[in-house]
Amino acid sequence: TQRAPLSTLSADDLAAYRSARADDYAALQARGLKLDLTRGKPSSEQLDLSDRLLSLPTTTTDRAGTDVRNYGGLEGLLELREIFADLLGVETAQVLCQGNSSLTLMHQVVTDLLLWGAPGVDRPWKDEEVVKFVCPVPGYDRHFSMLADFGIEMVTVPMHEDGPDVDAVAALVADDPSVKGLWIVPTYANPSGSVCSQEVAARLMAMPTAAPDFRVFWDNAYAVHHLTDAEVKSADAFSLAAASGHPDRPIMFASTSKITYAGAGVAVVALSEANKAWFLRHLGMASIGPDKVNQLRHAEFFGDADGVRAHMRKHREIIAPKFAAVDAALTAELEGLDVAEWTRPTGGYFVNLDVLDGTASRVVELAKAAGIALTPAGASFPHGRDPRDRNIRLAPTFPSLGEVETAMAGVATCVALAAAESLSG
Ligand code: PMP
Repeated sequence: TQRAPLSTLSADDLAAYRSARADDYAALQARGLKLDLTRGKPSSEQLDLSDRLLSLPTTTTDRAGTDVRNYGGLEGLLELREIFADLLGVETAQVLCQGNSSLTLMHQVVTDLLLWGAPGVDRPWKDEEVVKFVCPVPGYDRHFSMLADFGIEMVTVPMHEDGPDVDAVAALVADDPSVKGLWIVPTYANPSGSVCSQEVAARLMAMPTAAPDFRVFWDNAYAVHHLTDAEVKSADAFSLAAASGHPDRPIMFASTSKITYAGAGVAVVALSEANKAWFLRHLGMASIGPDKVNQLRHAEFFGDADGVRAHMRKHREIIAPKFAAVDAALTAELEGLDVAEWTRPTGGYFVNLDVLDGTASRVVELAKAAGIALTPAGASFPHGRDPRDRNIRLAPTFPSLGEVETAMAGVATCVALAAAESLSG
């Protein structure tokens, strides 16, 4: 059915539409739902895919014959570093395998930059009056809350389908030496699903920066998390950076949090030669070596990089229908009304829903009162403030397919009702 944009309805038609949606909403509330679309967590069905880990490793020595139960091996297990090098398109020597959380590794890198400064630069960031990061928005809330916690200022730029608005980024970094960093999720970004193109990546790596110690935090959390047959390859940040004379600019992060167990996986950081030596020097003060038993069981579980790719297709079978259900529910209720836009991501963990300006908080409030928990409006912006109050991040992986269908039909009702309320002034 062809629908007219809501803003073109006559006052009477709009009043009728609003009252029909209010009835829908009352019926929704009467169902007493208790559903949650807030966090991008794997479902237990997905976690079950990795339960063979619980009976691994089958041996206590790695390929080189080292006893993994003992101390040592700060860089991480070589066989697992090789697998990640293949997946991330980098050299094995660049890859370090560490604890279970890549977020912790990002925190460590920022801490080291603050306290000791980048390699070859004697002025640590803590000695600067202001430190700023460029933050593509919408983006990952925990990147922003970490920066806020460190007192680092955030300057936003729009996130486009092919990555951050690179003209805006280049303008911000060109003359201001206090702009020290950029955070980017290059593949299937949280929450926009954008994939940074090779062209955008090339400019990010080549652009002149006033700060000599400018770093790009290349958080490739969803590098292998495809939802379609088009399994995109991430842009080759290190080669591009080296080719343009900034080998130390990118620092790459990833983890198995959404590959095996979110709470018991392995996190990875990949660095240039100078950054690696610098990072290991400080890491060596904090650890005698990572959990190599966990790393060995992961290496055995995967076998090789193709083993990871095959495993990810099993995740896709479970979660792709949930993403399709989100799209179906929004399309059924909202298509043609011109009150919402949403992504149909080809990978990652999120759907980005932009509702009518000024109505996102109202949608979240309506949903909550109907028993559907959504991520707070604005969560994907620094300090939780979306200047247009229109952005909502949906995370459909954790609930069952039936729950996603029910919850999203409800969310669509809330979006429509909030829009009708807003347009009737
Ligand atoms: N980066 C991004 C972009 C994420 O979405 C997430 C998880 N939501 C993380 C990092 C966290 O990764 P980890 O579990 O390895 O700390």
